Amino acid sequence: MTNHILVVEDEAKLAQFIELELKYEGYEVTVANDGLGGLTSARESQPDLILLDWMLPGISGIEICKRLRSTGDKVKIILLTAKDDVSDRVTGLDAGADDYLVKPFSIEELLARVRAHLRRNQEQSSDMLQFADLKLNRTTREVSRSNRPIELTAKEFDLLEYLMNHPKQVLTRDQILERVWGYDFMGDSNIIEVYIRYLRLKLEAEQEKRLIQTVRGVGYVLREAS
Ligand code: CA
Repeated sequence: MTNHILVVEDEAKLAQFIELELKYEGYEVTVANDGLGGLTSARESQPDLILLDWMLPGISGIEICKRLRSTGDKVKIILLTAKDDVSDRVTGLDAGADDYLVKPFSIEELLARVRAHLRRNQEQSSDMLQFADLKLNRTTREVSRSNRPIELTAKEFDLLEYLMNHPKQVLTRDQILERVWGYDFMGDSNIIEVYIRYLRLKLEAEQEKRLIQTVRGVGYVLREAS
């Protein structure tokens, strides 16, 4: 999978230079030249890593960092800045940045840091299931949609995890009952409908598109509405 990097930098020449180098390394790159554009792009394109200039027209890099973290976004962020005293570093890391690179930096150092952080992403991602804008972390049991955190009960989580483990695959009501509730489940099999309804309410709380589709007479499937 190609890693997607967002570069938020208002110095056009520097932005272009970084973009070319990253593309040469095989990354998919998006560039934003001001704070608002950067924040919008970070939210919409959900990059794997952001190279974020500190001083930007409009919203500062620090502010972007804080806003992304406040909504639970865990994207890797490397701050780029000409400021290099200790208190500034602390401010940057306190705002939620993962790393800090002082200008002027060598492109080799930048690329090395990018590789290191993307590697960490990969190590963490084995715990992650993702389908469209829906993410589920098996270890922390956190679920989010477009970075909006979603609180699930234990059973809702198990049901969603089962669906996300088998994207686009129709799962019968019997399969779901066995896998999520267990072979010996003796209760009302309408329990599946009830839990699917709970899940949909939570996953679609902000009028998002339906991801859990009903296959009439059979069961359910995780797929985007056609
Ligand atoms: Ca700048």
